Amino acid sequence: MQQNFFRLGAINLASCWEPMIHPAIRSLSFPPVPQVDCNNCRMVNAHLFPPHVKCCSRMPDLPNFLIGSLLVNGPETHGKQVVIDWISDRRTDPLYALVPPQRRQEESGLHSFKEWPVCPMYQDGGCSIYAHRPYVCMGYHCFFPDPPELYAFWNSLSTLLALISVCASQYLALQCGLVSENFRDAWGAFPDDETAWPNGQQMDPQLHQQLWDSLDEPKAFYQHCYQYILDHQDTILDELDQFRREQLVRFMGFEGHPDPQRAEKIKQQPKDPSPQGPDPEDHKRYMKELILGPDKHRWTFREIEGHILYYYQRVFQPNTPSLPA
Ligand code: SF4
Ligand code: SF4
Repeated sequence: MQQNFFRLGAINLASCWEPMIHPAIRSLSFPPVPQVDCNNCRMVNAHLFPPHVKCCSRMPDLPNFLIGSLLVNGPETHGKQVVIDWISDRRTDPLYALVPPQRRQEESGLHSFKEWPVCPMYQDGGCSIYAHRPYVCMGYHCFFPDPPELYAFWNSLSTLLALISVCASQYLALQCGLVSENFRDAWGAFPDDETAWPNGQQMDPQLHQQLWDSLDEPKAFYQHCYQYILDHQDTILDELDQFRREQLVRFMGFEGHPDPQRAEKIKQQPKDPSPQGPDPEDHKRYMKELILGPDKHRWTFREIEGHILYYYQRVFQPNTPSLPA
């Protein structure tokens, strides 16, 4: 990880992503989609997004390891200063820089897209933290040209990046000293936005203090989350995979759907993905939902990677003899 950027097919990411992405996915060579051009945005041309902001109208949560990477490696841009100000302004917890309720209300209360507010990271027509942008900004927010599997490929790739982002932010926070019970208790004592964010923009000082109790101060903590990835480049992929597997088995218990067969399948999955078509229902979702966040599915890393390889072959290697039926 010598450079600050890592190239995954057609997209640039901060270099800390590289060891968290399976080599089978890292090795894919996929080009940009020629018809999807941010300088000639299809969604703006179709009057679905406003020209002043295009798809950069929603402020996304920024995970701890990207904040750390931005602080250590990020260029001195407007966006980096915004994040530094958020940290001073009690806008961050050990997992994320959070979107405060006042901003969420502004976003949800608008009727015409012409009023959409610009993401605070947007500057001079582009993203000022581009390599460090959150997962929700990494895939294209567009309608795609045919074949439909092209959309499914990008959607499953975005779904993988979303899963890595969410699992890594949780796992790294735990590795850097967060006690999950303390985190849950702190938020649980402030059950609604009004009490947790009294002025709509900053956390209650007591909540903030409880969230950070016994941890490093926020900037150092985020840098440690990032540093953990650097220090565990050879193992972080397996660590996150194991974390997800254990999490999924635990979820079955919490959610009241114990399924010993599924639990065994999760535990026994091989360490390398193989191309596999998603179930028909999942295939339909891949064809119509943009980026499935981990709250919307219960897949393992290997399963999503298998879906990516499956769609990749269908789009980019249609004559591959081993293509699954
Ligand atoms: S990613 Fe956003 S700006 Fe780029 S083409 Fe798609 S909708 Fe437009
Ligand atoms: S973080 Fe960057 S890419 Fe994402 S919405 Fe904001 S300006 Fe756009």
